[in-house]
Amino acid sequence: MPRIALRPENAQQAQLLRLLRDHGPRSRAELGEAIRLSRSKLAHEIDRLTELEFVESGGFAASRGGRRSSIVRLSRDLRFVGVDIGATSVDVAVTNGELEVLGHSNAEIGVHNGPPTVLDTALDLLSKLRAEGVATDIHGAGVGIPGPVSFREGVPVAPPIMPGWDQYPVRETMSQALGVPVQVDNDVNLMALGELHAGVARSVDDFLLVKIGTGIGCGIVVGGELHRGVSGSAGDIGHIQIDENGPPCACGNRGCLEAYASGTALARDAMAAARAGRSPRLAELLEDSGALSAADVTDAVSVGDPAAVQLLRESGHRVGQVLASLVSFFNPGLVVVAGGVAGAGHSLLAEMRSAVYRRSLPLATGNLPIVLSELAAAAGVVGGARLISDQVLSVPRGIDER
Ligand SMILES: [Zn+2]
Repeated sequence: MPRIALRPENAQQAQLLRLLRDHGPRSRAELGEAIRLSRSKLAHEIDRLTELEFVESGGFAASRGGRRSSIVRLSRDLRFVGVDIGATSVDVAVTNGELEVLGHSNAEIGVHNGPPTVLDTALDLLSKLRAEGVATDIHGAGVGIPGPVSFREGVPVAPPIMPGWDQYPVRETMSQALGVPVQVDNDVNLMALGELHAGVARSVDDFLLVKIGTGIGCGIVVGGELHRGVSGSAGDIGHIQIDENGPPCACGNRGCLEAYASGTALARDAMAAARAGRSPRLAELLEDSGALSAADVTDAVSVGDPAAVQLLRESGHRVGQVLASLVSFFNPGLVVVAGGVAGAGHSLLAEMRSAVYRRSLPLATGNLPIVLSELAAAAGVVGGARLISDQVLSVPRGIDER
């Protein structure tokens, strides 16, 4: 039976559910301490949540001297879905209520194929996961898109590399196909939520997640919450201008950070290096496939090709320059670096670190780790599940709220 309307009835229930999501099963005694409810009020709310099939019994806790306290856990049947649409692939994962990934699947498909094809691919991947038995009912899905998203409307807005996606009703389409609530956000925001929930940023309230992939973006977490800005475009750092006379960018301007340091820019510069005879390895790869990608640069770096190492260093330096300004402006407690290019090698991270530490004030960088993403390819899907769980595990605010 689909449980579309499944939502907590009041703020205490929502608080209990999120606590169980974030910290796992807890004894009644621990829950009572954590949210400061009297024993009878707590028992009442847990009874209601049990009737709603949100929570169930998880046995008994070890005795702390008096009566043994029973364990409460989220229902074993709760399922959230994370969909991470990248420029060249789609990832889909199904999680339990605690947002642990139970099944994860992906397909190579370019975002340029347009929304109907890409969303159908995502739905197919989900159907296969369900057929494998990871989910019967699902309770919501969070979808990430590699471009600017109006979070309120659930639609992409003028994404530079995504023909056909502008204003496409992604949330409505997926919600109708699945019969459950759906939220849509940009992929970088979801990666930040993923790292916040289960990755390297677990205990950090204020941090930045910089993604260097086909494009470049930044997720901003303030006080444990995503900061999206007024219209949802906060963190779109790929189009910060470095040089007004710089190379052309996909957005129509010149000299954006992306035009220097993204995977696309790396591929362009790698082709130039190969053709100019500056890199034997890249020339060989170009000969084999007729074109080069950022992954080929990674490949060449892994065999110590000096020109490829230099390209990656320059990329890291450019991102580091912009990041130094962001650090001065925002004073984060952590910077997480993610995305396909970021995983390419230590030289990129080292350059970024040195640019930031050299250019920002000691007060801002004195205790500022700059580290790689812990969840890597799973960050986006875990973040998608987290995004929709935030909605499903909250009290409906009005009839407009879906
Ligand atoms: Zn641009």
